[in-house]
Parts: sequence; structure tokens; C-alpha cells
Amino acid sequence: MKVLFLGSGTSTGVPVIGCQCDVCCSADPRNKRLRSSVLVQSATTTLLIDSCPDLRQQALRHNLTAIDSVIYTHEHLDHTTGFDDMRAFCWNREDKLPLYAGPSCLAHLKRMFAWAFSEQNTYKGYIRPAAHNHGGAPFIVGDIEITPVPVEHASVETFGYVFRAEGRSFGYVPDIKVLPETSRPLLQGLDALAMDALTTREHHTHITVAENVKLMQQLAPTRGFLTHCGHAVDYESTARILPTFMAPAYDGLCVEL
Ligand SMILES: [Zn+2]
Ligand SMILES: [Zn+2]
Ligand SMILES: [Zn+2]
Repeated sequence: MKVLFLGSGTSTGVPVIGCQCDVCCSADPRNKRLRSSVLVQSATTTLLIDSCPDLRQQALRHNLTAIDSVIYTHEHLDHTTGFDDMRAFCWNREDKLPLYAGPSCLAHLKRMFAWAFSEQNTYKGYIRPAAHNHGGAPFIVGDIEITPVPVEHASVETFGYVFRAEGRSFGYVPDIKVLPETSRPLLQGLDALAMDALTTREHHTHITVAENVKLMQQLAPTRGFLTHCGHAVDYESTARILPTFMAPAYDGLCVEL
């Protein structure tokens, strides 16, 4: 299984428009972060996690022309508003594009992009999603098993996911404030885990780098990654203080499991 970080940034991206801070002005390409999204790939199956507003740029950068399914973490705009760019993934397929989300996110998508979900949407050039409400229950796409992991984040229903294929496991939790006790076992001891590390100071809807490290040490994945980072997180100086099994993710990072 392979994981490609299409974007590792928070909702503003980095650099932030108009900001002159050291990270926003940094020449280090690993400090240039598009909005958060990953591609999870097995030998036969490609999953896109979230359709962020930078999806077009990410698809062009990585020559991404087809996916088997899109899976949503939650309805926040930095995870959904690239929806329309998935048209390109529908042009070369006869069937609808499988789309998985929890009930709240799915309702939000249907409200926001009603035309795509409408029975009248028969024109081949539009995105034609086959919507599935996973309801928090595990599901399978191709040869990848997907387990939703409920987490607390802002006031919206939010899921992380664990992906299992080819005997490997990868957990992805881009937006989290609190990991409920009931979700904890789902993330324990994975081959790799990428988790929210928005900033360095306490935040009301996200965990900090320090909180991420503490959680990672408890969950003990073989490899741990910071993602969904804002401009308070400098790649180089953050990488230096992390435990040896951890690293900040960066756009274009490909992790082979
Ligand atoms: Zn900045
Ligand atoms: Zn969010
Ligand atoms: Zn987000």
C-alpha cells in the first residue's frame, strides 16, 4: 500500500495570503502546503480522501487522472470544495463514481452540489457520484478495507479512517480536537498514522504539535506524520524536535508501507 500526501496544509494553505512570517516567506518547498488530502493506493485500487480546493492543482502535479472512490472526513470547506474538479475522474468511466461519507457530510454535499446528486444529472461531462452513507461502519473498496474512526472536531461530525490492504495499515486523521476513548483502539499500533498538527498554541478545534506527539506516543504507530499544518509549523525546526518515529508530512511525500 502506498500513501501520497497531495496536500498537508490547513484551510488557509501555506503561505497564508498577505502573511510575511518566516514560514510563509520560507524558501523550503516543504513549507509550501496545499490544503489537506491524501491518495491511498493498493496494487489495484486508488482512493482519494477529501476533495480540497486545491484538487485541480494536485491532480495536475501528480498526473492523477482516475480514482476508484472518494471518501470524505467531514464537511468543512477545505475538505469539500474541490468537488467539481472530480468531473475529470468521471469522463472516462461509464458507471458512477463511488463516494463515501458520514450522514452529516453527505447531507451537506447533497445540499451544496445538488445538481450532481439529482436524478436529472445524466450529462456525461458532470460529476456523477454514487453516494454511500457509511454510517460509521467499516466498508470495502476494491481490495482496501476502510474503517471510519469517529473523532471530535469543531461542531461537525468528523471521521478519521484506517485503511488496510496487502497486510498493511494506514490511519488518517487530518482534523481532530479530541480522540474519544471508544475510537482509541481503532488507531492503536498501525504501520503509519498521519494526524492533525495545526499549530503550536492551544486551539479550540484542532490539536497542537505537542498534543499530536503525545497522542502518537500513546497510539504507537511504526511511523507517525504531522499533517493539516498551518504557518506556525516550520518543517525543519519541527522535524528536529520530533521523536525518531515521527516526521512532518509535506506535499508530495509518498509513504510506501
Ligand atoms: Zn505566515
Ligand atoms: Zn475541519
Ligand atoms: Zn481541515
